[in-house]
Amino acid sequence: MSKFKFSKRSEDNLNGVHPDLIKVARLALQLSKRDFTVIEGIRSKERQAELYQKGATKTMNSRHLTGHAIDIVPYPLDWHDKQAFADLAKAMFEAAKQLKIPIRWGGDWNRNGRSDDESFYDGPHFELLKAVYP
Ligand SMILES: [Zn+2]
Repeated sequence: MSKFKFSKRSEDNLNGVHPDLIKVARLALQLSKRDFTVIEGIRSKERQAELYQKGATKTMNSRHLTGHAIDIVPYPLDWHDKQAFADLAKAMFEAAKQLKIPIRWGGDWNRNGRSDDESFYDGPHFELLKAVYP
């Protein structure tokens, strides 16, 4: 049925992530016209601090710390190809809709509300909506 299957790396990175977000990612992979890789799931406090220092994240209260967020990238990866990230978002939102699991995308924080530390473009980032998944 599906053309794509998660790599070992993706499966490893889904370990410890909230089951509902894993469901969305799995269905999105079936619906997507592009293959993708899960590059990050649950994150330790140490790793968050490291990314914060590097400026790769604007928050120390990341949803990654609690397993409520994943980062996915198109395969093959071109960081400059924003259309590819938008295509993945389309598949993720379609999957979320079918499963009735509300999510937000870092490329479009406004869709489901936003806070000041989250106003920058973060194309790979998807998280469960905080209002429903505190
Ligand atoms: Zn992220």
